Amino acid sequence: MSKQYDYDLLTIGAGSGGVRASRMAAQKGARVAVCEEDRVGGTCVLRGCVPKKLLVYASEFSGHFQDASGFGWHVGQTAIDWPRLIATKNKELDRLNGIYNNILSSNGVETLQGRGTIIDAHTVEVAGKRYTAEKILIAVGGWPTMPAIPGIEHAITSNEALDLPELPRRITIVGGGYIAVEFAGIFAGMGVEVTEIIRADRILRGFDDDLRSELEREMTKRGIKILSSTTVECINKKANHFELVLGDGESLETDVVMYATGRKPKIDGLGLENLGVAISDKGAIKVDDNYRTSVESIYAIGDATDRVCLTPVALAEGMALVNHLFGGESAGVDYENIPSAVFSQPPLGTVGLTEAQARERYGKVDVYTSGFRAMKHTLSGRDERTFMKLIVDPKTDRVVGAHMMGPDAAEIMQGLGIAMKCGATKAQFDATIGIHPSAAEEFVTMRDKRPEEE
Ligand code: NDP
Repeated sequence: MSKQYDYDLLTIGAGSGGVRASRMAAQKGARVAVCEEDRVGGTCVLRGCVPKKLLVYASEFSGHFQDASGFGWHVGQTAIDWPRLIATKNKELDRLNGIYNNILSSNGVETLQGRGTIIDAHTVEVAGKRYTAEKILIAVGGWPTMPAIPGIEHAITSNEALDLPELPRRITIVGGGYIAVEFAGIFAGMGVEVTEIIRADRILRGFDDDLRSELEREMTKRGIKILSSTTVECINKKANHFELVLGDGESLETDVVMYATGRKPKIDGLGLENLGVAISDKGAIKVDDNYRTSVESIYAIGDATDRVCLTPVALAEGMALVNHLFGGESAGVDYENIPSAVFSQPPLGTVGLTEAQARERYGKVDVYTSGFRAMKHTLSGRDERTFMKLIVDPKTDRVVGAHMMGPDAAEIMQGLGIAMKCGATKAQFDATIGIHPSAAEEFVTMRDKRPEEE
């Protein structure tokens, strides 16, 4: 490690990936600084996974209150105190922010407050001061994008939705991805009238088609109105509400308009164009297998590279990079079989290939599905289905896709992710004894292949 520079590694962005890489590099003896324009923590801690999940928990209580009477409980009148919820959620984020700051300082990582601009291959300017580093790591994450339609300035994104001063009576959410369906569930659970507008025929493009249809059905049962194959032409501000003019000429009134139409790397103003750092057509930083950009001393990980935009992937990339730079290993994160969840209501969990992807890769596949009413709802009376699906490559008997919609789907899918990482076969799933009574046991008792459609 060279003394010619102020630092061995200067990381731009103190989110999940940047903090993990900086801390690990310091633990390996490197002199490290990380710069951050906002608070330490990044999207996941401050504007994403964590606050979102806390609001999901909060909104689920309305369902629990309804379910309780089937189990003999008398539940009195209930009401959500939204400002109190937001205040307690923010207090928890402050606590996590403190932990992240502590992780950096206790490991000897210097924090530089301000947005970093790369001046040359070894120099970063932060708040008017220049710092040199042997290696620069870009871990700036992403930011919501919205289409440039007239009136878009009236729309909020997930950033603002997490801190609304009060709950609206009605909200319209545009988009059909992770964020849109998660917030649709949050607001519906809070008693808000939710309309979701999607330009495609179904929500969650890229997920298994059965899962998409099953979730859409359950969301509709919960009162969420999904307008598919619909576009928004413009947003007009009226005295007490907003008017959305739709592609078919119809219009819609709402109190809050939220756009969840994707995110893109937050690389503007980083100075990349002057240095010739290669950028993809989609505005992401191009990297090789070792996370090196087209400039030798500059690396990038996480959402800034727009590969798999998930916190645990950014963490894995950060660790792999540090092991490569300061431990002599080749980087390499395995991007196959990454389990993920959508914290919709009910939630989804998924790992491996969708049925369509599996058919494309393997030709013929065996499909096992199971749909049932969870035991809890025999007494609660709630009309909600749980759905599970396994996709098997018949040539090797390996399970190549597992999908679930239902309570605890995320918790269940983590374990199945390990099995699939180990290459588990359907015979090994079948030989596993179930845990009874649980929903998860269904994954080891699916015996009948779904008949092939003619
Ligand atoms: P996604 O890319 O998942 O979804 C974007 C949605 O917006 C799609 O339905 C897309 O439609 C639609 N859309 C895009 N452009 C337009 C437009 N101009 N007009 C109308 N609709 C449009 O983005 P999200 O913002 O939901 O999430 C971003 C990323 O964050 C995710 O991909 C995921 O990686 C991550 N994330 C992960 C979570 C988790 O793990 N639980 C939770 C939240 C986010 P179409 O399908 O037609 O393209």
